[in-house]
Amino acid sequence: MDMEISHETNNKENQDSSNMGQPHESLYLVLAYLPLFELLAMTQVCRSFKDALNNDILPWLNIVVDENVQKSRVSNEILMKITSKAMGRLKSLILINCVKITDDGLQNVVTNNPGIDKLHVPQCTSLTPEGIIRAVTTLSQHNTTLKTLMINGISKVTKEHLQTLHSLLRSDNYSSIDVEICPKCDEVRMVHDCPLETCERKRTTGSCRGCKFCVLRCEECRKCVGVDDEESEAACEDMLCEDCWIHLPKCCYCNKPYCTKHTHKQCVIPGSSGFVCEACYSKID
Ligand SMILES: [Zn+2]
Ligand SMILES: [Zn+2]
Ligand SMILES: [Zn+2]
Ligand SMILES: [Zn+2]
Ligand SMILES: [Zn+2]
Repeated sequence: MDMEISHETNNKENQDSSNMGQPHESLYLVLAYLPLFELLAMTQVCRSFKDALNNDILPWLNIVVDENVQKSRVSNEILMKITSKAMGRLKSLILINCVKITDDGLQNVVTNNPGIDKLHVPQCTSLTPEGIIRAVTTLSQHNTTLKTLMINGISKVTKEHLQTLHSLLRSDNYSSIDVEICPKCDEVRMVHDCPLETCERKRTTGSCRGCKFCVLRCEECRKCVGVDDEESEAACEDMLCEDCWIHLPKCCYCNKPYCTKHTHKQCVIPGSSGFVCEACYSKID
């Protein structure tokens, strides 16, 4: 993708009433909700979109870069260029799995946009807890209270870091940060609860609340599952509870199902409505 961001403005042409073939007005409203790369792609669609995007800061106030979806490897410099379009009024910065963004890159954006109230940087593995604290400190000095902060996947976050972040966020509401202290291993991680009130373990052992390392969960319904429930393993090696296991379609050979997320791994058998899993398929071959 062409990452060059044009700074040219073209007000004159935009206001020209004789300009034919302009996109419908409602399309411009959509622009404010598009993730970054769709937004950049739109600038290539036609002249008037390009002008609208360059002249309007609204679409640039909420920046979302999800590198789980598109591995573009956005650098600090590119991020700086993109965010500069908000003219210092960036509201939310959502960077998912952007491994090239460093503490300094984040700090630059925050310093130039002190009104950010939503900062999500999960799996941005080049960021450090200290860098995140620095950024949140800068925001709090500008009287911005972050509504949500997501930092799961950032390594070496300690209880002390978490405490500092909570004091900076001045919130009694722990849900504003996505990680917390796991009651089982005492580490700072994303902690989950059973979604089902009827969970047998919750009733008998008191709690099945914990991080993913402490409590195995069904990939489908997030209910806790035991290590000894052997039949609950899926063909993709994710864990499944008995109920979900029963209801999912299974491999014709090994009788293991795929979880919903991995149904694309099913290998179709010509002339049959069933499928075989990848492991069985490689054995047949
Ligand atoms: Zn744990
Ligand atoms: Zn389940
Ligand atoms: Zn449970
Ligand atoms: Zn199989
Ligand atoms: Zn799976």
